[in-house]
Amino acid sequence: MQIPNHNRAARVNELVTRLREKGHRITPQRLAILKLLVENESHPSVEQVYEQIRPDFPTTSLATVYKTVNMLKEEGEILELGFANHSSRYDSNRPYSHPHLICIHCQDIIDAEVIEMAEFPDTLTEKYGYQILNHRVDFYGICPKCQMEAQKPE
Ligand SMILES: [Zn+2]
Ligand SMILES: [Zn+2]
Repeated sequence: MQIPNHNRAARVNELVTRLREKGHRITPQRLAILKLLVENESHPSVEQVYEQIRPDFPTTSLATVYKTVNMLKEEGEILELGFANHSSRYDSNRPYSHPHLICIHCQDIIDAEVIEMAEFPDTLTEKYGYQILNHRVDFYGICPKCQMEAQKPE
């Protein structure tokens, strides 16, 4: 199931409203963390969120970021991408399964907009009788930026 596309600022506002309705307190630093998790297109890790938040909120701890991520997980408002050899990365803009492009060089992760993918679960249900709950599709490669850097003369 896909939520229709909408801009990320609107998603932040909806998210804050929904979290407040559920009784969560949204402090200015929590809001800043939420914004990063929704608006940062490269799917930050908890550590990356922490690094980016610290200049504005020097008293923020790594634990605060973890707590916010856990709250979002409990509410089903964030997608976690776990990896065997590095930190989990997060997408709170689209908190449901969707395909990603992952750069093996700089570890950048972006959403891969593939229309065909939306029909995949139905096809699998028809073919195998499974009720599909979620999926994980990662495309590994080298991003355009890293390709450019590799081509630069010495
Ligand atoms: Zn790259
Ligand atoms: Zn994503």
